[in-house]
Amino acid sequence: MKTTKIFFQFYRNYKGAIILSNGFSDAYSHCKNIGEFVWVNQDNPDYKILGSSVSVVFVSCISCEQEIVVFNYARLHSDIQFIIGGPAVINPFKYTREDFPENVIETKLSVEEYFNFSNFSGMWGIDVSSIKDIIKDKIVSFNYSIETKCYWGKCIFCKYCDKGGRIKTRYDLDIVHNSDISCKLKQIRFSTPGFNKTQMLKILPQFIYQDDIKYDFFCRCDTFVPKMLDTMYESYKGKIPQIKFRLGIEFPTVNMLKFMNKGFTLQSILNTLDATKRYNLETYTNFIVGWPNITPQDVIDVEMFVNETYGKLAHISIWRLYCPDDTTIHEMYKNQVEEYLYHEGFYKGYFPELSDKALQLNKQAKNYFKLCSKIVNEPDKENI
Ligand code: SF4
Repeated sequence: MKTTKIFFQFYRNYKGAIILSNGFSDAYSHCKNIGEFVWVNQDNPDYKILGSSVSVVFVSCISCEQEIVVFNYARLHSDIQFIIGGPAVINPFKYTREDFPENVIETKLSVEEYFNFSNFSGMWGIDVSSIKDIIKDKIVSFNYSIETKCYWGKCIFCKYCDKGGRIKTRYDLDIVHNSDISCKLKQIRFSTPGFNKTQMLKILPQFIYQDDIKYDFFCRCDTFVPKMLDTMYESYKGKIPQIKFRLGIEFPTVNMLKFMNKGFTLQSILNTLDATKRYNLETYTNFIVGWPNITPQDVIDVEMFVNETYGKLAHISIWRLYCPDDTTIHEMYKNQVEEYLYHEGFYKGYFPELSDKALQLNKQAKNYFKLCSKIVNEPDKENI
């Protein structure tokens, strides 16, 4: 009789770093007595790892890309049940697939609920011993879950708006600092759309300087942020931790910040960037181009922004605006679609159509954004 239970955990090799998408979690301490934890390379899965005694595979997926990998396993192993939970199921993309495998079940229950434990009752843990040779000389990004929901949650293009989650905010970094995981650099990626004031106050002062630890988190440009950074740096007393500081600026003009319902002002972006420069933070940001409603004044304002912030951004990514399903902007331009976007059968949204004039203005804005930093990341499918 098949009795073995397996828990899949995904990792991927991204630009030379190993990203562990299932990081520290409550599931580990409860479930290590129920089944075996197996790491799966998301981009190059070993489809032969499931032996003949395996009856069921449990997996938490954060994206439709991970679900697709599970679907592929399920098709190859029709005698094994696959139970998928996690953010990809809790906040699902719309399914357009007609070939959803019969041996896959999705659940919105947490792992603890599924196995009748209380939520957050387990000891937080992680076991990377089976991939220790893969990670030993690498930068390894650990996911430290803070929150799934953004405390602002009102930007018109954002999938994080109104999405609940059952992730508990933890304020103790000891498990991260004391882990004996051996690798070149532990990058602690705080999984949250943005630290709120309390989280900043409680978590940031715990950061330590250590050669092999770097912290990585998202933050909004709210007015409290520069003050929080001042407080944080006083607490370090000269021993400055390594920090990757990510800001979602998107399009820094008065007109577009208002249109996006971004909830902060151009001035608060400038104040935040002054503070990150003051403390030499490695600052990353995203810009978005492809706005149907862009104006010539927006381009003038972008040029001014770039002049004023030159040298303050270490790394920028430029994305084309797309209108994801279940967002305000998806409704806005649904009669002006240039291209619908799918990922292997999962509907993701669409690129809005641009007039010739809007296309030119977006191109000009993009060229200014590219002057902000020496390191610019542009997705291949850009078209602007
Ligand atoms: S601040 Fe960021 S995470 Fe929050 S709603 Fe806006 S885009 Fe989404």
